[in-house]
Amino acid sequence: MYDILIIGAGPAGLTAAVYGARANKKVLCLDALSYGGQIITSPSVENYPTYKNISGFDFATNLYEQATHFGAEIDIDKVVKLEKNGETFTVTGESSTYQAKTVIIATGAKPRVLDLPNESSLLGSGVSYCAICDGAFFKGKTVVVNGGGNTAVEDALYLTDYCKKVYLVHRRKGFRAEENLIEKLKNKPNAEFILDTVITELLESDRALVGLTLKNTATGETSTLETDGLFVSIGRVPDTEFVKGLIDLDDGGYVKADESCKTNIDGVFVAGDCRTKVVRQLTTATSDGTISALSAINYLDK
Ligand code: NAP
Repeated sequence: MYDILIIGAGPAGLTAAVYGARANKKVLCLDALSYGGQIITSPSVENYPTYKNISGFDFATNLYEQATHFGAEIDIDKVVKLEKNGETFTVTGESSTYQAKTVIIATGAKPRVLDLPNESSLLGSGVSYCAICDGAFFKGKTVVVNGGGNTAVEDALYLTDYCKKVYLVHRRKGFRAEENLIEKLKNKPNAEFILDTVITELLESDRALVGLTLKNTATGETSTLETDGLFVSIGRVPDTEFVKGLIDLDDGGYVKADESCKTNIDGVFVAGDCRTKVVRQLTTATSDGTISALSAINYLDK
């Protein structure tokens, strides 16, 4: 019987593990793949307090070592089910079943992908899902942002400060993004909108992105656009399917909870990108990890 079982070993989950284990609780942190979460793919993190520059891998490794140093167990297992049995919880993974007094859901949210054949192999070689993380690597270059929501337009605005040229490619004419953001982008001399257009192909040379094939959805016409980078900003998908029915989720599938990180079920907490929130950054993930663990400790000790 674990005191705290954390589902997800990204920055939120590992921070919760540090706090839980340091408070002498029996802590298990499970992850489907490995420790680190989304940040592990980021070549350079420049916006986490105390680090001017650290790779996502080193950041995650430091956090992993910190959590295990305090006695947290970290294991690989994909959790497929969470059930409440009276006062405790049964967590079912693909490999094993676990019992816990409290659970912290920290499974994160994955960027929605375009699902193009070489998209994953070009990740870090021209393709990115995070303008704030990777924008600085495209200083003076030409980039494309794909999407029509607030994130895409904000990403494009952010990139106009670094890049020579920023194209915003969106699959229709209407935007989900707020009008004032669109107006701001229209006023940027190095921004250009390409609407009613989808990306059908990622063109590469020497394993790096060099261009895109575009298709106009109104006319069916195809064209080629040279670019050094592609920022895919077409929404995110939280990894919360396995708690559907037990835990309250919003329309986007995010776990409903405010800054207290408490869910609708006593003893279940949520941390990081899979929680309903406005800002999804490394700093807010570790902040949630802290709050959820302290809430779980408080719940156990009451
Ligand atoms: P979003 O609002 O869901 O927008 C996703 C965009 O991607 C939409 O324009 C959608 O096109 C497009 N899209 C989806 N699937 C696609 C595909 N397969 N191929 C091409 N395009 C595709 O996502 P988001 O921009 O990440 O924002 C998420 C939430 O956070 C929203 O509620 C947003 O308002 C909020 N947010 C707020 C702020 C802020 O307040 N400053 C900043 C960022 C995000 P369609 O429109 O055609 O469906």
